Amino acid sequence: MSAKRLAGRVVIATHNAGKLAEMRDLLEPYGLELVSAGELGLAEPKEDGMLFAENAAIKALAAAKASGMPAIADDSGLAVDALDGAPGLFTADWAGLPRDWVRAMTRVKAELEAREIEMVGAPARFVSALVVAWPDGETLLAEGRCFGHLTWPPRGEAGFGYDPVFVPEGESRTFSELSRDEKHGIREKGGRLTGLSHRARAFIRLIEKAGLTKVSA
Ligand code: IMP
Repeated sequence: MSAKRLAGRVVIATHNAGKLAEMRDLLEPYGLELVSAGELGLAEPKEDGMLFAENAAIKALAAAKASGMPAIADDSGLAVDALDGAPGLFTADWAGLPRDWVRAMTRVKAELEAREIEMVGAPARFVSALVVAWPDGETLLAEGRCFGHLTWPPRGEAGFGYDPVFVPEGESRTFSELSRDEKHGIREKGGRLTGLSHRARAFIRLIEKAGLTKVSA
């Protein structure tokens, strides 16, 4: 466990509405007072790290220092095996500006087709790096992955980003066809916490590292 525990007011350092909703769901049972970077009017820092963990730390530290409160950030992305791990760190960039996720998913399909690879069934994984930062610069990192494959055309309404084309291992439905609880809910099985999505799995590691304990409803 970290020397510091996560308690009291905490900033969720994201401007991505989909991530914000999932991080609120994940943090909700722990009795924290949650406020988003958007609600505080915090600027989005330049993400120029070479790793998901570096970019998550950049976002969490910027928010913690600007707000004087502990902050939690997620940096995540989709890695497609046949594209040598792309879009990877550039997962959001493939959607252009303003973000257009159909464009992003279509680009994955086009890049695979350029290599004569069928999108349906192409192995891929989602990766999430969660970093908690305190205003004094202390950080802690927890990472999670979710393996699966891609599909086409996009299916389902829930979730965000590339969810409609990603089918997690052991499922026939896309992330967008799963409920919020099925995608990123955390369950206890045989005395261990389990979760499906990359973010849920990173969060399970964070629970122990940040000393989070559930408050009763
Ligand atoms: P960033 O971490 O803000 O650089 O952006 C990561 C991007 O990865 C998001 O904008 C989404 O497009 C994508 N992504 C991350 N996690 C998920 C997920 O759970 N479902 C779908 N797309 C995701």
